[in-house]
Amino acid sequence: MPSTLADLTTLRLGGPPAELVEAPDEASLIEAVSSADESGKPVLVVGGGSNLVVADEGYAGRVVVVRNGGLTVETDTCGGAFVEIGAGEPWDDVVATAVERGWVGIEALSGIPGTTGATPIQNVGAYGQEVAQTIARVRTWDRRLRGLRTFAADDCRFAYRTSRFKQDPERFVVLSTTFQLTLGDLGAPVQYAELAHALGIGIGERAPSADVREAVLGLRRGKAMVLDPADHDTWSTGSFFTNPILPASEVPDGAPSWGQPDGQVKTSAAWLIEHAGFTKGFGTDRVRVSSRHTLALTNRGDATTTELLELARTIRDGVQERFGVTLVNEPVLVGCEL
Ligand SMILES: Cc1cc2nc3c(=O)[nH]c(=O)nc-3n(C[C@H](O)[C@H](O)[C@H](O)COP(=O)(O)OP(=O)(O)OC[C@H]3O[C@@H](n4cnc5c(N)ncnc54)[C@H](O)[C@@H]3O)c2cc1C
Repeated sequence: MPSTLADLTTLRLGGPPAELVEAPDEASLIEAVSSADESGKPVLVVGGGSNLVVADEGYAGRVVVVRNGGLTVETDTCGGAFVEIGAGEPWDDVVATAVERGWVGIEALSGIPGTTGATPIQNVGAYGQEVAQTIARVRTWDRRLRGLRTFAADDCRFAYRTSRFKQDPERFVVLSTTFQLTLGDLGAPVQYAELAHALGIGIGERAPSADVREAVLGLRRGKAMVLDPADHDTWSTGSFFTNPILPASEVPDGAPSWGQPDGQVKTSAAWLIEHAGFTKGFGTDRVRVSSRHTLALTNRGDATTTELLELARTIRDGVQERFGVTLVNEPVLVGCEL
């Protein structure tokens, strides 16, 4: 049984919780959360701990670790597969199963750590796919109304790295998520230039899902974006900062820009960080920018959350000073702030 949040997070940072409960099934998950709510005890829901930065002091409440797994295939006909997945099911196992069974639409999300129930929280995305494209519905425990609530995808308020669940953080516990996936051996049309190039196809073309998965895992490993306990470059939360979405006039000259449906422009946090003078490896022998990915802030073994956040502040303030753009953290900060 883990004893500190450091044991439960991919950054391996964070002090002890006042109380720790593992929830192996849905009933125990609801019970663990609702009994704490009834007694006024704070609750922190933890899946794989891959998007969490927890204070060195730990957590003065009940940490509930989500472990309810299982895949239920509701239909698997020519209309596609509806697959309901328990919140605690490891996400990458789900992607591997989808590729094996010919369920299409999540193959580019290979190699992302954490649980399936966390994927709708920040609308997990990578290499041109995001879960908002394939989620049909999300079943939750509503801590305010103290009852079950199911949201159709349209009601989840999915947007870039966010959702209603992230925006209202103390309210919903995801119990299961249902994906609607098409059937076939070819993956969805590839929308991401680097991935298309790795597969030797053009943007918008398709390749076998198994090849897409292997190509994504290869690209991710090259950037230390697949967990490896022996590799400190992976002791991170993945990207620490989101890509800023700005009015076109505020995007610095020369920075990459991707038009958004609302007329604003998304630019690259990595470009801003590098051009503000923070290159890969920047930092100390205890906390530094990954040597393979500018957006990943890493624990080199014995760091503290305080040190990690100091590094994050130095980078955020440097980018602010150089470009007037305020970077925003992607991981959820618990008991600490930037
Ligand atoms: C090496 C690495 C690479 C990564 N690459 C990507 C990437 O390419 N794209 C991307 O989008 N993300 C990426 N991430 C971030 C992270 O893996 C995802 O956000 C993932 O979905 C988090 O899942 P988790 O189970 O670890 O969540 P946790 O870190 O345990 O929790 C994150 C947040 O979700 C909440 N939460 C977790 N489970 C539930 C639940 N069942 N109900 C309600 N709330 C819940 C927690 O309370 C917390 O607020 C990466 C992280 C790492 C370490």
